[in-house]
Amino acid sequence: MRLGLTLLFSLAALPAASEPVLDLPIACTLGETCHIQQYVDRDPGTGARDFTCGGLSYDGHKGTDFALATMARMRAGVDVLASAPGIVTGLRDGVEDRVYGPDNAAAVKGRECGNGVVLRHEDGWETQYCHLKNGSVRVRKGDRVDSGTVLGQVGISGKAQFPHVHLSVRRNGAVVDPFHTGDVTQCGASTGSLWRETPAYVASGLLDAGFTDAVPDYDQVKDGTATRPDLPADAGALVFFVLAFGGQAGDIVRLIIEGPQGQLIQQDSALDRAQAQFFRAAGRRLKGASWPGGTYQGAAILLRGGVEVDRIDATVTVN
Ligand SMILES: [Zn+2]
Repeated sequence: MRLGLTLLFSLAALPAASEPVLDLPIACTLGETCHIQQYVDRDPGTGARDFTCGGLSYDGHKGTDFALATMARMRAGVDVLASAPGIVTGLRDGVEDRVYGPDNAAAVKGRECGNGVVLRHEDGWETQYCHLKNGSVRVRKGDRVDSGTVLGQVGISGKAQFPHVHLSVRRNGAVVDPFHTGDVTQCGASTGSLWRETPAYVASGLLDAGFTDAVPDYDQVKDGTATRPDLPADAGALVFFVLAFGGQAGDIVRLIIEGPQGQLIQQDSALDRAQAQFFRAAGRRLKGASWPGGTYQGAAILLRGGVEVDRIDATVTVN
């Protein structure tokens, strides 16, 4: 009996040593050039919650989504990296980069991962990287890779509505949340992280902001092509917009435009429901012949319970 107990304890200590140590699967700086949009769904039922019991997940989500704010950043090229040393056991390339929606759902069926790579690690561990850019996969089956080896580039292939790499971690086929390998019994407590350096949990933030001469459409904002660095003095309107993630009901988005002759606008808009991604815009129509020339400053502030959660600034030159 004594021996049995000792043996049990020794065995229990073993798996920790064989767990992979994960590095980020993407070559970007979290909070600056990329963000985590969705975590593994830890709700066993039909609801969804991440390991902190926050809302950054959706029902049945089996991985972590490392996202780029705009398609423009994706087009510029951001590498997808192996999170741990391993062997390439599966890959797919040749799937087009396209925002997932009802019109291409049938084409994507069975290829939800889009262009992807599967790596096998020791002791039944596996990592999978999804939604890579068409034609970007640069490893072959059987290749041995190190942590940090470039596998391809971030894309929007398969079942993806924004450019990101989805990282799935599995052991013996079962999904493991790399932020919290144990049961989620206490909200907000991360135990058993597999990360070499665990990324900070960021519930929401402002991703991109800019000026233009009319209220942009959402697709343009997400594309990253709505921003105009300069505007003519006779522009029909001056509009400042912001793209954000992780909005919660009751949040306030404050948009401020300061012109060369003082404040032009300060507008608050409240969110009536939680939104994974959203944008807001505020502006003024031209009255008279022209805008005063010079630099206009835009500031977007996300407020929660009256407290500033995030802020992003942008400028435009009017001449
Ligand atoms: Zn995902």
